[in-house]
Amino acid sequence: MLGIESSCDETGVALVRGSQLLGHAVASSVDEHVRFGGVVPEIASRAHLEALLPTTRRACEEAGVTLADVDAVAVTAGPGLAGALLVGVAAAKALALALDVPLLGVNHLVAHVAVDVLVSGALPERSVALLVSGGHTELLDVRSPGRQGSQGVGAMRVELLGQTLDDAAGEAFDKVARLLGLPYPGGPHVQRAAESGDPAAFPFPRGLTAAHDLRRHPYDFSFSGLKTAVARQVDAHRRAGGELDERFVADVAASFSEAVADVLARKTVTAALDRGVQTVLLGGGVAANARVRGLLAERCEAAGLDLRVPPLRLCTDNGAMVAALGALALADGLGPSPLELATDPGLPVSTIVV
Ligand code: ATP
Ligand code: MG
Ligand code: FE
Repeated sequence: MLGIESSCDETGVALVRGSQLLGHAVASSVDEHVRFGGVVPEIASRAHLEALLPTTRRACEEAGVTLADVDAVAVTAGPGLAGALLVGVAAAKALALALDVPLLGVNHLVAHVAVDVLVSGALPERSVALLVSGGHTELLDVRSPGRQGSQGVGAMRVELLGQTLDDAAGEAFDKVARLLGLPYPGGPHVQRAAESGDPAAFPFPRGLTAAHDLRRHPYDFSFSGLKTAVARQVDAHRRAGGELDERFVADVAASFSEAVADVLARKTVTAALDRGVQTVLLGGGVAANARVRGLLAERCEAAGLDLRVPPLRLCTDNGAMVAALGALALADGLGPSPLELATDPGLPVSTIVV
């Protein structure tokens, strides 16, 4: 299975055989977006166009295969940036047609979950997945009965439990980095600054965790209030004549990261316990954050839950996750997709194959 990912700013191509990753290559246009402080869709689309063939070639070389060995092609059909998705989908259609193999248009978010098969061999029959990236913050209920499962044959199913009502977690990291004068993308810079800071220096708000919010939004997230609280803290510090010195930046970064990690971990563990599942999956670029991973691991252990976190190169956007989901879907009897398959920038998470 050849997988192609082009939903945002990474061009990813990979080859898998079942749950075995044969090779993968990723090209990122992130450097071209730095001076704009965020992903510029037109620039991302053009970069995909330029990167797709060389990235495909690199992936095939790493896997030791040629295109003639490809049995099926999977591609991210959504959600994502419309123009960026189009490039990957057009390439996948051309390949599927030329090689006369099945085409599978798959869901990017479910692919972030499915990548776990490349690490663990099979998805748990039931799990709760937390997806945290620059564009997404979602809690999912994932069922993957499997072919040998005692439940009998059944296809994978995904249900949205909750999501952010405003900013995504990664977006919050990027905005707070900007407030602190740190470069884009902000996540890694905020993490570095936080290392020498005091996570209890500022009691930043934990969005949607008050009792009345929990009743209506048990599994939803909100990070815009947290971002505003950081902005107020920075303003107050400046008005008091303070500089954005290392101490202050470190304390804000640490307190902010603690607030994000606390809410993510709290709601994820609650969802897993409410749903009676044993396993929690973590995915998306923010899984790179040491405090997010660390606190989630601590709370999962305390609650007797297993936590699975793929290696970081498989947490950020890549083609391997798309190929993994394509293989899983095909084995589950989902797809193939028609050659006239359309991209869907707002594809709902319950649609695994278009
Ligand atoms: P999508 O949302 O479609 O998956 P994306 O490109 O926004 O696409 P990723 O590439 O998975 O998502 O992740 C990028 C995000 O992860 C950025 O917002 C970045 O700031 C954040 N990030 C990366 N490393 C860290 C880190 N160490 N701590 C916190 N956030 C991080
Ligand atoms: Mg990205
Ligand atoms: Fe992603």
